[in-house]
Amino acid sequence: MHNIIEDSFGRQFKTLRVSLTSVCNMSCIYCVTPGIIQQAPKEKVLTTSEYLEAIQKIHKQVGLKTIRLTGGEPLLFNELPALIKGIVELGITDIKLTTNGLRLLPQLDSLVEAGLKSINISLDALDPGVFRSISKVADIRSVLDAVDASIASGLEVKINTVVLKGVNDHQIVPLLEYASARNIPIRFLELMKMGYLHYNESDYFFGMDEIVERIASVTSVAKMQRTASNTTTYWQTSKGMVFGVIANESEPFCSDCNRLRLDSFGNIYGCISASEGIDVKALKDEALTEALQKALAQKQDYFTGSEISMKYIGG
Ligand code: SAM
Repeated sequence: MHNIIEDSFGRQFKTLRVSLTSVCNMSCIYCVTPGIIQQAPKEKVLTTSEYLEAIQKIHKQVGLKTIRLTGGEPLLFNELPALIKGIVELGITDIKLTTNGLRLLPQLDSLVEAGLKSINISLDALDPGVFRSISKVADIRSVLDAVDASIASGLEVKINTVVLKGVNDHQIVPLLEYASARNIPIRFLELMKMGYLHYNESDYFFGMDEIVERIASVTSVAKMQRTASNTTTYWQTSKGMVFGVIANESEPFCSDCNRLRLDSFGNIYGCISASEGIDVKALKDEALTEALQKALAQKQDYFTGSEISMKYIGG
């Protein structure tokens, strides 16, 4: 029997996003402060068994439905198949991964075998030069191969694209056509004011209206009904293509947010805008219930941004 941990909006925690590592093998210009060399954290990160312990005790309290493994780059966590298997054994079978795909191919079979159900692959451009200018990595081929191999493996696959004004907004239509040719949904993300962009994201900001307008210039579009607790508003084109927009700024979806976050140091966050996590490593029973209630109280009415970059808190 789970506790009812619920706020006055009726929000509960049903999805846990776990940032398995704050380290990434890309340095996307909206996530990593320019000029910073990424280093392994000084603080001790959780081991597989510590992650499983944390997930189990949270699950026991709130009855999780979904786990999304993210980061940093989750494929850099070297016991990922064992972790996924362990989560399935805890009784949570809806396990999803958000990845840049660079390191996916050698691990794909073992992840599927372990119980992975769904994968979101981040791809901000098809043009190799634009891809490199955003990610600081030249190897777009491995990412494109990861998309095709994921589809062939039977995983549910989605593409995530962060749209930056003047940088990759001209990639919106080619990316939509690329996803449609593979019959997979693509979601365009509005840039969120996080990390070093907390105070100056507007230079790059390209909003939902502009994204939809760009697509509407080549095919007519109709908005679909948003499902509860979903981050995405979906649209359908007259050519039968489906795309989503994650519009944190233009159409905030905080009011029915069911997400809880766990970082790689054992801190939980009830909101992506929360500037401080709550260390739950040593907590259980009533102390954990209190921490979860405190995390729930962090939820906002709308997205206010954070000085913490997405790579720490888990995108
Ligand atoms: N490394 C993995 C990846 O690239 O998918 C997982 C972590 S990454 C932080 C998760 C997602 O967050 C990616 O799709 C990334 O593009 C997105 N992201 C990071 N910072 C963002 C920001 N400031 N605004 C919007 N999306 C952001």
